[in-house]
Amino acid sequence: MLKKRLEKGLIQVYTGDGKGKTTAALGQALRAVGAGYRVYMVQFLKGGSTGELEAAKRLEPEFRIFRFEKERGFFWTLSDSEKKELKSEVNEAFEFIREVVRGEKCNILILDEVMGILHNGLLTVDEVCNLLEQKPDKMEIILTGRDVPEKIKEMAHLVTEMRLVKHPFDRGIGSREGIEW
Ligand code: ATP
Ligand code: MG
Repeated sequence: MLKKRLEKGLIQVYTGDGKGKTTAALGQALRAVGAGYRVYMVQFLKGGSTGELEAAKRLEPEFRIFRFEKERGFFWTLSDSEKKELKSEVNEAFEFIREVVRGEKCNILILDEVMGILHNGLLTVDEVCNLLEQKPDKMEIILTGRDVPEKIKEMAHLVTEMRLVKHPFDRGIGSREGIEW
């Protein structure tokens, strides 16, 4: 049972080629949890351990992060059978997401890196748009990932683009625990 309801739930998108999409969604989650709302985040295309997974455990059950995929390499390095396996995990994730929306099981639902899933052809834009159409009035849905499809951009109420100006990666500085993951 939800303790509280948002007055009006909207659709937000965090996109762009600069850093800050997932962390913006996490910041939004932190704020909402503090205000007494329940936040679920489903993370796609992320296998390894990350700081947010550990931090979320301390905020359960108000904040929960769900993953459905086994740890694998980059999509383009996968064999056909690994891609098939990934596809079935993504289907399972999406079925779970549909259930969360249908049952209004949280106030804010974050679909982290869902754009990546669309670009890899593991879900269709229409499937995601149908889901957004089913969104209960008082539920907020946040989608993250580079290159948001036009149709999703049109449906969203808020679209923020993180623009790459500089990134330490370009100077050969690798990803750091607690900052990039
Ligand atoms: P973050 O999770 O730090 O908010 P993000 O969600 O905007 O980043 P993603 O596109 O999901 O970025 O990238 C995944 C990883 O790549 C993260 O570790 C992120 O910090 C890092 N990253 C983000 N933007 C860039 C970039 N322009 N160049 C190199 N690495 C990046
Ligand atoms: Mg991200």
